[in-house]
Amino acid sequence: MIVVMRKDSSKEQLEGVRERIEGHGLQAQVSEGVERTVVGVLGQTFVELKDELGLMEGVLEVVLISKPYKLSSREFKPEDTVVRVGDVLVGNHELTVMAGPCAVEDEEQVVLTARAVKAAGATILRGGAFKPRSSPYSFRGTGVHGLQLLAKARVDTGLPVITEVMTPEDVGMVAQYADALQIGTRNAQNFNLLDAVGKANKPVLLKRGFSSTYEEWLLAAEYILSGGNSQVILCERGIRTFETGTRFTMDLSAIPVIQDLSHLPVIADPSHSTGRANLVPPMTLAAVAAGAHGVIIDVHPNPAVAKCDGAQALTFEVFDGLMSQVHAVAQAMGKVPAAAGG
Ligand code: PEP
Ligand code: MN
Repeated sequence: MIVVMRKDSSKEQLEGVRERIEGHGLQAQVSEGVERTVVGVLGQTFVELKDELGLMEGVLEVVLISKPYKLSSREFKPEDTVVRVGDVLVGNHELTVMAGPCAVEDEEQVVLTARAVKAAGATILRGGAFKPRSSPYSFRGTGVHGLQLLAKARVDTGLPVITEVMTPEDVGMVAQYADALQIGTRNAQNFNLLDAVGKANKPVLLKRGFSSTYEEWLLAAEYILSGGNSQVILCERGIRTFETGTRFTMDLSAIPVIQDLSHLPVIADPSHSTGRANLVPPMTLAAVAAGAHGVIIDVHPNPAVAKCDGAQALTFEVFDGLMSQVHAVAQAMGKVPAAAGG
């Protein structure tokens, strides 16, 4: 249920509505948009509440939200949400390119990559310090040291950094180093972790669980939003199907479908979707053409010796070439490349 306030309603009237909702043991989430202020009513609502709130001073109307996810739905917030990562805006008319190594290995690797992706036009540096791996024997990341190296690369290039957090206990610590927190596909339904990042004061990139439906994905986002963190970016990263020719199957339709269902920005990860470097350029361009607000791409100085996901990493040269094509498609889609410091 959402309560839409009248344009001329006062702060006191808004407070009155909030108090009434909370008085019923429910949660009130206020969203002050450009067009209108709305209050989301969260919890076990009851039929009579619609009339009760509808009669209050300052209330324009009370609307029932048909979807199981509320705060992440377009019904709750018709206008697009724009998320700020450092100084970079994600979700507006600009196309955001996040790029960097799958895993942070050492200082030289991450700083050189950061410089190269920045020179090619990326505005956010990606890199995993804590790596969720299918096998416990694979390289599992450099941990806190990796976070420190990402922070160094940020000082060197000015690029904000995004990195994965795997446990609720680590959220505070990772947030000290990162500009945005990534929730990986394997943790996309780790509800305790979603609760924890919902309380963090940092934007969150929520990957789609590789077997999550759209509804499950948006309900995962709902955990973060209902925790009080409205800064969520969704990322399509491929789902598991019967096809084994690619690592996962990139669900391009997810981009326009989610944009229809939700106001949150949607980006795509063609690297983890396909698992193969030669497929990354075409699927990057396809994602931009499908209307993605951005892309996140694995880039490595020497993919052949990468400690993680080398097969899908682009060299600096290939990434640079891809970026000019990305700009052309972005332009055709009415978007401009995101500028740092915007
Ligand atoms: C990653 O981006 O480094 C990653 C592990 O992605 P995913 O969770 O989508 O597999
Ligand atoms: Mn990876």
